Amino acid sequence: MKIKLAIFGANLRDQSKGQFIVHTADCADCAKLRHETRHSGEYASLLEVSKDIWSDMINEGSMTAEDGMQEIHFAPCVKLPYAILAHQNTVPK
Ligand SMILES: [Zn+2]
Repeated sequence: MKIKLAIFGANLRDQSKGQFIVHTADCADCAKLRHETRHSGEYASLLEVSKDIWSDMINEGSMTAEDGMQEIHFAPCVKLPYAILAHQNTVPK
């Protein structure tokens, strides 16, 4: 199942938690970030968000989606599995 998310960044005013902050699209905290660059999309896992944010660099081979996770802060409202295995649709440990 995919959930609609709001991705804020890069160039956040406060980057203490990373270059990007992610909330669900309907989270009340989105209002606090209204001055930041916002990108919306529907995602099924956290790793999918990272793949999307860093797609250019991942395609270049200069980083992986796992590397990119370090620069993304997922707010508690985002209740998605870390990753979904395509062949069995379950969450790896
Ligand atoms: Zn939130």
